[in-house]
Amino acid sequence: MKAWSLKKSASVDERPLVLAEQPTPVVHEDELLVRVSACGICRTDLHVVEGELPVRLSPVIPGHQIIGRVTAVGAKVADFVINDRVGIAWLNRTCGNCKYCLTGRENLCEQALFTGWSVNGGFAEYAVVPASFAYRIPDDFQDVQAAPLLCAGIIGYRCLRLTGLTGNEWAGARLGIYGFGAAGHICIQLARARGSEVYVCTRDRERHQALAHELGATWVGDTAEDPPVKLDTAIIFAPAGELVPVALNVLAKGGTLVLGGIHMSPIPSFDYSLIYGERMIRSVANNTRSDGREFLLEAARIPVHTHVETFAFDRVNEALIALKHDAIRGAGVVTLE
Ligand SMILES: [Zn+2]
Ligand SMILES: [Zn+2]
Repeated sequence: MKAWSLKKSASVDERPLVLAEQPTPVVHEDELLVRVSACGICRTDLHVVEGELPVRLSPVIPGHQIIGRVTAVGAKVADFVINDRVGIAWLNRTCGNCKYCLTGRENLCEQALFTGWSVNGGFAEYAVVPASFAYRIPDDFQDVQAAPLLCAGIIGYRCLRLTGLTGNEWAGARLGIYGFGAAGHICIQLARARGSEVYVCTRDRERHQALAHELGATWVGDTAEDPPVKLDTAIIFAPAGELVPVALNVLAKGGTLVLGGIHMSPIPSFDYSLIYGERMIRSVANNTRSDGREFLLEAARIPVHTHVETFAFDRVNEALIALKHDAIRGAGVVTLE
């Protein structure tokens, strides 16, 4: 198969991914072999390629928002057949036995494997996944539209969950979103459908601010600008630690600030008064499979419309460069057909 692999981390501007032929992966007894049709690009891919995340597998094929069709089924797989459409996300496999796995927190599993980081991912013609970690994709979504749901979408969903707001509490709640890329543009659609007012802070005027307006933001401003009201809760998707005190400064008492990224630049020190009043800060680490399944159902019900910019398979490096420089409106997706 043809695949893009990373041998040595480097700035994406140096085009470190190399396209080469390599053996098509072998499917084990509990796995599916998937012919990839689309693979979304994510900021985490940048962190893998540029070395902000430690090397787990080398060389590695990045990419963890994979849509494709099953072409081979392991001997012990009962619930998928050839040609089923599936999605493969970041959480590739967990141990099933640790204290986290046994208490509904498999996203924190000590032994977890991650697609496109510790096992090969989707910037390739084929990928494998344990059948129990593959997602069925609702028919409402075409392959290209579905790809960004698998990380940007699921992580945004988990961020909303970790705000602590549930059910009717969303009606009229004021949610702040800092950074408005792939995750932000899906998250706002869930929040709007739940009845919340959304305040978006993002540095890109042309693409991100315009899209935020289109998707129903109550207010859109620069990251340095304070929203005109106190926020009941806020999510930071941008990997910029300096936004933490900025967001705390406009967070109402008792509110939670959720940090949605796997990597963030250092958080500057700040006065206790910014967090006093029972404000909370919490990170989001990965997701559980139930997050993924619940999110896909909610996304189909709304329905969420992903705004996608596609890149042909021979332009994976260009896609990562565009993501790094905020040049993508919505989500970037590499297509293979
Ligand atoms: Zn575990
Ligand atoms: Zn991701």
